[in-house]
Amino acid sequence: MATPTVENVVIIGSGPAGYTAAIYAARANLKPFMFEGFQAGGLPGGQLMTTTEVENFPGFPDGITGPELMSNMKAQAVRWGAELVTEDVTFADFSQRPFVIRSEEREVHAHSVIIATGATAKRLGLPSEHDYWSKGISACAICDGATPIFRNSDLAVVGGGDSAAEEAVYLTKYGSHVHLLVRGDKMRASKAMQDRVLRNPKVTVHWNTSPKDVYGENGLLSGLKLHNNKTGELSDLPVKGLFYAIGHKPNTGLFRDQIDLDDVGYIVTHNDVETSVVGVYAAGDVQDHEYRQAISAAGTGCMAALLAERYLSANDLLQEFHQTEASEKSDKDSGHKSEYQETAEFDISRTRHLGGYALRKIYHESDRLIMVKYASPTCGPCHTLKPMLEKVVNEFEGKIHYIEIDIEQDPDIAESASITGTPTVQFFKDKAMVGQMIGVKQKSEYRKMIEEHAGMAVAQ
Ligand code: NDP
Repeated sequence: MATPTVENVVIIGSGPAGYTAAIYAARANLKPFMFEGFQAGGLPGGQLMTTTEVENFPGFPDGITGPELMSNMKAQAVRWGAELVTEDVTFADFSQRPFVIRSEEREVHAHSVIIATGATAKRLGLPSEHDYWSKGISACAICDGATPIFRNSDLAVVGGGDSAAEEAVYLTKYGSHVHLLVRGDKMRASKAMQDRVLRNPKVTVHWNTSPKDVYGENGLLSGLKLHNNKTGELSDLPVKGLFYAIGHKPNTGLFRDQIDLDDVGYIVTHNDVETSVVGVYAAGDVQDHEYRQAISAAGTGCMAALLAERYLSANDLLQEFHQTEASEKSDKDSGHKSEYQETAEFDISRTRHLGGYALRKIYHESDRLIMVKYASPTCGPCHTLKPMLEKVVNEFEGKIHYIEIDIEQDPDIAESASITGTPTVQFFKDKAMVGQMIGVKQKSEYRKMIEEHAGMAVAQ
């Protein structure tokens, strides 16, 4: 099938809105092209990549984790022929037709566009925030809560919405006590979530309270300066973790001068998903500051795809791409065949390994470069990184060791490696750490690090 010179529809963003639009457009034989994003608006997959259980998405009576739900939606879009690239859009021009959309790697022309770029977590901007970012302050309790620095310590969460309530309860699994700092005298969270917080003996709610600054010891956070917004009183709260859950701002910077936005930057829509430019649609949190639910985002994604199809067909722009049959392509099947072993079957000649036992053996006995990925099961960014690293590791088969550590199962190893957040990737050569990468980076950066240090092995 020839690649069209002008795409029927380009989808920007990959949360529930973007993937649903991709599923509907793909099933309408439009062969949608999707920029999933990389890091500009948060993770590919969107905000659900940093939540735990989603209990209100219809069809999952026992709940489903956010990352699992997104991975299912993605697999469904791919199965029906959507073309996906994990790249950030850096430029969009809606003043000419076809529209022009660019990333660092390509320029794409499109007859219609669906914007589903969502919203990004806000920060407080405290005076010393930068000094303790990732050293106690985090915007994602679900990603970082399991790291050793937070275990059995007092922790704080700022915010009064559902995210803050969910995170406060989640952190009680790890911290000794959780302080929820609510700036007013009531919480915005749903009643059910408020009940969970207020009934939990390991959570204390501090009403009318805001952090003014943070301080630390030995480079790690050790406490907060608090302000009582009613009495003006200042106080100290010794905590080792501070988690932000204070809402989001829409990711609309790229479109500011091209389509109508409201006062706070959300895309203004008519007929649910039509923007001020004919042929450009907006779906999900980027245009909805009221409901902001995965199911409502998915609903508007569906509407945007149906309207895009109508627009293309009414204007004779639609180019159909028939699938010979629903391809059974599934993202889940595309991973490298697992060759992890039980402890008893440990074989040092293999490239991939799992767990602390393998790490200790290989650290002491191998002269290859060792790449260790520290992840936790509920961490969305870890889900994003996994297939990326698999691809990179495939390129260095037999030349490196790749060891995955689940920090919940191997907390001691994570502690001795001073892990402060997941995912973290460390590189070791000759029993010395030669590099560390925190968060999700481009595949080329991991490749470069490996080439630099595995290359040393070849030269020796
Ligand atoms: P929200 O916008 O709902 O809440 C933000 C909270 O942060 C508010 O309580 C707000 O206070 C507080 N806040 C904002 N700025 C500051 C500041 N500078 N200092 C202190 N506090 C501040 O965001 P959420 O992320 O909680 O939720 C977003 C959407 O996602 C909602 O629709 C929510 O229902 C949904 N959600 C659902 C979940 C679930 O069903 N499991 C889980 C998580 C989110 P104030 O109230 O005073 O304005």
